[in-house]
Amino acid sequence: MQTNHIQNQKANDIIRKCVHCGFCLATCPTYQLLGDELDSPRGRIYLIKSSLENNHFSDESIKHLDRCLTCRSCETTCPSGVEYGHLIDIGREFVEQKRPLWQRVYRHSVRKLLTTPLLFNPIGFIAKHSSKQGKSITPSVGSKKVLLLGGCVQPVLAPNINHSVKNILAKLGYDAIETPQKQCCGAVDQHLSATQEALIKVKANIDSWLDFEVETIISSASGCGLMVKDYPSLFDQSDPYYQKAQAVSGKTQDIAEFLVDKDLNQLNLEKSNISYHEPCTLQHGQKLAGLVNSILQQLGYTPAPVKDSHLCCGSAGTYSIFQPKLSQELKINKLQHLQASNPQMIVTANIGCLMHLQKDTKIPVKHWIELLNG
Ligand code: SF4
Ligand code: SF4
Repeated sequence: MQTNHIQNQKANDIIRKCVHCGFCLATCPTYQLLGDELDSPRGRIYLIKSSLENNHFSDESIKHLDRCLTCRSCETTCPSGVEYGHLIDIGREFVEQKRPLWQRVYRHSVRKLLTTPLLFNPIGFIAKHSSKQGKSITPSVGSKKVLLLGGCVQPVLAPNINHSVKNILAKLGYDAIETPQKQCCGAVDQHLSATQEALIKVKANIDSWLDFEVETIISSASGCGLMVKDYPSLFDQSDPYYQKAQAVSGKTQDIAEFLVDKDLNQLNLEKSNISYHEPCTLQHGQKLAGLVNSILQQLGYTPAPVKDSHLCCGSAGTYSIFQPKLSQELKINKLQHLQASNPQMIVTANIGCLMHLQKDTKIPVKHWIELLNG
């Protein structure tokens, strides 16, 4: 756990790297939509800096920080290596204590709804996107074990994703053990500044996952994968969990990273004209831009280039709940670009983007991994 002093120090170290060049403004979705410097990465860095110095976050500052998607597009653009994602998390943690009571209650309720299976599962069942398709393949005796992050909302909303991952891995000689739904990665708590509750989940996950003694932990939701890879940043280096978090982070791979050097010729492919939406958590967070596209191309798909593919679709965790207007504008733009090539299907790599995009298009939206289990 990190104290306010450590958090302040960490924020200052990040802020000092910013040379105010403004390159990040051109690739920030909220700056593009609103044209206000305070809705840009540079403006928000300034707001966090002055608010921390004065120990005061005004309502105006909170508004501009809340509009940030945490898409980390600015990190990809920044020539100085400013770790904006970590900075906004620190800023938000301070902001949380200053929010009016109604906002805190609303945010708490949404967080509990999403992270408590007993509450979420009945709603998720009604909003379900897809069911398992085809039989489950039993891994052959002697298959190498890997751990599959089951996720908390994905198994309820789109169980066909993990089903597809397990089948594909079984065909390639791997036995994927799925973690139970209650083992949420902690991202929802962390992004809604419930740091203590996130840490309880993170520590329990670390202890449980290290017990499996597998070499690889696979994630099929790029948002969860990013959170798990980022676990070490939640601990001070003197904390005993820091080393364990590094061990878990080092073993974790997105399914695309795991498959990229495997022989995929034996898979049955569902060939169709597709358009690929690359989640921010994969391209800007995990820095794996282009990886899924290159696998799809090797498999004979020709996803058409998508205009502004670096921009967020507006899903961004709980952003679509708390900032519905901006989220909707981003989605409409994204769908326009994804549909420009008249695809039969849109594929992506994160359950949040998938559900968000599907709400406003009749074209089926799937996880790209489902194509490989056709
Ligand atoms: S994280 Fe995204 S929305 Fe937030 S400042 Fe950076 S580019 Fe803009
Ligand atoms: S965050 Fe990076 S790109 Fe943006 S103003 Fe600072 S140094 Fe320049």
